[in-house]
Parts: sequence; C-alpha cells; structure tokens
Amino acid sequence: MTYIDTVLQERLKEFYEKSRRLTILTGAGLSADSGIPTFRDKDGFWTIGSVNYMPEEMGTYEMFLRKPLEVWRWFLYRFNICLKALPNTGHFAITELEDLFADRFRLITQNVDGLHFKAHSSKERTFLIHGTLENARCGNECSSELYPYPQIPIEKDQELTSAQIELLKCPKCGNYLRPHVLWFDERYNEKYFKLDSSMRVAKETGLLLIVGTSGATTLPQRIVESVLSRQGIIVDINPNENYFSGLALKKKNGYWLKGKSSDVLPEFVHFFRTLMTQ
Ligand SMILES: [Zn+2]
Repeated sequence: MTYIDTVLQERLKEFYEKSRRLTILTGAGLSADSGIPTFRDKDGFWTIGSVNYMPEEMGTYEMFLRKPLEVWRWFLYRFNICLKALPNTGHFAITELEDLFADRFRLITQNVDGLHFKAHSSKERTFLIHGTLENARCGNECSSELYPYPQIPIEKDQELTSAQIELLKCPKCGNYLRPHVLWFDERYNEKYFKLDSSMRVAKETGLLLIVGTSGATTLPQRIVESVLSRQGIIVDINPNENYFSGLALKKKNGYWLKGKSSDVLPEFVHFFRTLMTQ
C-alpha cells in the first residue's frame, strides 16, 4: 500500500470491527480528473457587456433576479460540460465502497455534476448538499417541484433563442425556472439540501473520507467537526494542503493522505475487500 500505512490499517480494522458507518464527503477535486472545471478557474468567469463577473457573483440569487437569462446561459454552459463528462476511477471506487458496506455507507457530496450517479452510486444513500444540475425548480418558488434540467446546448458566447427561453419558464406560473443548486448567497436547509439529514449521518459516522474538498463552506466543516467530536476517524484525501488537512494533522483521529483521489480511493477498496473476505 502506497498511502494507507500500517498505523492507519490498524485503525481502519478497528473501525470495521465496531460496525460503525463509513461516510464519504466529496467536493470539486474528485471531478477534476473528469475534466469538470472548478468554479474558481478561468472557465468560471463570465463576461456580460464589458464587465467580467466572478463565479461568486454569477452563482447568486441576487444575480438571477437581476439577469436571469445571463445566469441561465452561464449554468447551461456549465451543465453541458458536465453532461459530456464521464466518472473517473475515484467515482467508481466510491461505488465499490458502497457495494462493500451497503447500509453502513453514506455519501455526502457538494458536487452538482451528476457524476456519482453516472458511476452508479445509489440515490438512497447519497446526499446532494449543494443540489444538482439534473434538476431545475421554479425561481419564484410557486411550488417545490423539481423539473428536469432544461437541455439547451449553447456555446460560451451564444445568445438564447426565444424558443430556448420558453424552455426556461416554470410550467405552473410562467416565471423563470432556476437551477436546483445552492447559490453563494443562500443558506443550507433540509427541504432542498438535506441539512439535518446530513448532520444525522455525521453523528453515526465512524470513518469519514474527505475527498477533494477544501472546506470553504460551513456544512462540510460542521460534518467533519461532528465526526471528530464522537471519536470518529477522519481521513483527508487531497494532493493539496487545505483546511481539512490542517485539521487532520492536529487531531489524533485525523489523517491526511496527500494524493489524488483516483490513486488513493482504490487502496481503500482493496483494503476493505481483503478484510471482508478474510
Ligand atoms: Zn412557478
């Protein structure tokens, strides 16, 4: 084993024997190997007229109210990248861990790209805490119904046609639909983003693998802290130093495996599969 040393192997074995739950928390770094750009790279920026907008400005309810069609063009462009992307070794390793642990497994993801489901993670054990680009809902909240995401192929600088614009309207009230994702100026809730459910998952977690997320948002931080407070083990899998790697290094139950998820996760599959067949 390249990443899981003998000390961690012992800890994983103890965890397995205690019959506690395995939870995996994933973020944008996992999908980087599938060619999905993160919000913070150059593809995240958007030009309207002569003004360059940051992703943190485009992905807000405030911008949607001011410029709904520009926000839609930006999200449609992103969605089309996701639609073409394929899951990578990391996603498939997560599905294999779900197969091995079955009901002792939960997946909490910040990713809206749909790649976990393309890799056959189950909908029942997956918590989409930032929503998903597979759905849209009424931007005016006339109901909480989720609609299929409008499939409109557009290029970066292409304008929407009037027929395409019609596809962006709520079938019930005629206002614009919105992508079913958590925007930068919105708060987590249970109804759409499974806030309470994912905190309950954290309480039952004996081993948390944190994959490709840097800890920039509050719910992932709360999940990790909750696991640590109940003597759970946290393992941060990330090639780069980040908030969680720093936290892991400070805690006796914390580990940082400095590597790519597509290299590290298959080791966990191998380790647990061997353990379970002994
Ligand atoms: Zn509506």
